[in-house]
Amino acid sequence: MALNLATKQELAVALQAMGQVKVDEPMARHTSYHIGGPADLYLHVDSRQGLLDAVTRAVEYEVPVLVIGAGSNLLVSDRGIRGLVVENRLRGWERLGKREAPARSDWQGAEGFVEAVRVEGGMSLSRIAKLTADLGLSGLEWSAGIPGTVAGGIVNNAGAHGTTMADVLESVLVLADGQIETMPASALGFAYRQTILKGMKTTKPAKPVIVEGVFLLQYQMAEEIKERMNRYQERRRCTQPQLPSAGSVFKNPPGYVGSGWLIEQCGLKGEQRGDAQISEVHANFIVNCGHATARDVRGLMDLARDRVFGRFGVSLELEQEIIGDW
Ligand SMILES: Cc1cc2nc3c(=O)[nH]c(=O)nc-3n(C[C@H](O)[C@H](O)[C@H](O)COP(=O)(O)OP(=O)(O)OC[C@H]3O[C@@H](n4cnc5c(N)ncnc54)[C@H](O)[C@@H]3O)c2cc1C
Repeated sequence: MALNLATKQELAVALQAMGQVKVDEPMARHTSYHIGGPADLYLHVDSRQGLLDAVTRAVEYEVPVLVIGAGSNLLVSDRGIRGLVVENRLRGWERLGKREAPARSDWQGAEGFVEAVRVEGGMSLSRIAKLTADLGLSGLEWSAGIPGTVAGGIVNNAGAHGTTMADVLESVLVLADGQIETMPASALGFAYRQTILKGMKTTKPAKPVIVEGVFLLQYQMAEEIKERMNRYQERRRCTQPQLPSAGSVFKNPPGYVGSGWLIEQCGLKGEQRGDAQISEVHANFIVNCGHATARDVRGLMDLARDRVFGRFGVSLELEQEIIGDW
């Protein structure tokens, strides 16, 4: 439901103390698809207090609030988002020191000790991957080249090259119901590109906000880590389209090579709706060739899902999140 004008104006004024506020801000400016209609209110925050106060204030005004990172996993409706969107730009990080490696059966290569690193949620994944690699800390190199933030990655249990957030995250600091609390990573319900936070509604009580995460990284030669990271990035460059997208559209169904293969077998590579296209390079990507709308993209998602189900009896599940006012 649209915000009434008085609430919108009052809240916009109240939010000015917390960061830069914009009214009716096109979400196309803040998503990797370059698609999405206006958010009633849009706020950049780069301080922890600003983030906490903004969420608290929106809850007081009973306005739905959505915190985003880089908008690289989102398809936002052409009608936009009702309520407040907060872009988290908290990018601090620090080394917390050596710890005994956790006793986990899936922990590979740890020789007794790991290093704990605290990273704020708005930090770019690629940047923290590089910063930690330079220090000879291994565990985040898989995320180099993923255009999202740490918090967005945690919410999605982002992963690549056989590793996911769940493998390296120890705990998170979360703002929920006006309180900040530390939660063990295990409480997030990690599954394939999924946690309990993904897709959670933004209405009352506000969806919990990830303020920071603590990662446990292994000591290794910086050169080895960087060599691996370069190899991963090169693979990405060779196999993924360069046009605007939001990464993989669908999760890979169990028992198949991948959703891209299934979609390609249905002859859908290159299929277009308006300026949206099922990529010629990788069929599990939809790209924006110019002025695609969310409706165009959704049309291609539905087409791919229907054709794959018709031919293989497989129900493709979205990896991307569809949000906003449809
Ligand atoms: C070219 C390309 C390649 C990609 N490759 C990969 C890949 O290899 N592996 C992979 O897993 N993904 C990949 N992605 C998808 C995407 O980049 C990741 O899922 C990324 O982690 C999303 O982070 P984000 O900051 O953009 O999150 P957003 O898209 O901004 O948000 C995603 C979700 O997280 C929530 N969120 C964000 N910040 C917070 C916070 N502080 N507190 C609470 N909730 C929050 C949002 O509300 C939303 O529900 C790719 C995308 C692109 C465009």
